[in-house]
Amino acid sequence: MPTPFVLQLNADYGPMKVVRWERAIELVLSAKAVTVAAYEGRFVRSASLALPWPAVVSLKRYARARERVRFSSRNVQARDAWTCAYCGLRPLLHDGRPDRKGLTLDHVIPRAQAKDGVVYLPWSRRWVKVSCWENAVAACGACNTRKADRTPSQAHMDLRMYPRVPTHADALRIAMDRIAHVPPEWTAWLPERWRADAEPVEGVRVRDRG
Ligand SMILES: [Zn+2]
Repeated sequence: MPTPFVLQLNADYGPMKVVRWERAIELVLSAKAVTVAAYEGRFVRSASLALPWPAVVSLKRYARARERVRFSSRNVQARDAWTCAYCGLRPLLHDGRPDRKGLTLDHVIPRAQAKDGVVYLPWSRRWVKVSCWENAVAACGACNTRKADRTPSQAHMDLRMYPRVPTHADALRIAMDRIAHVPPEWTAWLPERWRADAEPVEGVRVRDRG
């Protein structure tokens, strides 16, 4: 059984988002998109037509991407490619998929130092809510414990990257994270680093758990 999900590409074939198959069919039937890869041997049938079941569709006209991603611990992990923001550890399960239980959510400027629920981010010179994309990173348990209620500089710990509101690429990786298995029909259109089961990037330490 194919996944009900379809990878939607922009008009330049850049991956855009993951949509339900009903939405993909709607785009194809209204001539806003074309099917560029189908799930083999499967058809979407109605009384009058049988369409190849789309796996990947591309828009005919270029669309500006507007993604709003819900802030959650799981989505922060996906944004950070399941990698600790401090030590670079990327906990993996035996099957090579990310081990989410090996990571925690760290408030870079800790809640204990918030004033009225907001914190000051020295790197962007902005005040933000404690729990928001710009003040949250994935951290392994050891780093989170070591850092405790301190800022990275107070704890003498370096951040590998400043936390950010999800970019378009982040939004896509977060969408991928929601899918148990990325269909093989999609892989030709996806850069490796957006795949949850991709090999860890070079230089990142991996701990085999379980
Ligand atoms: Zn760590």
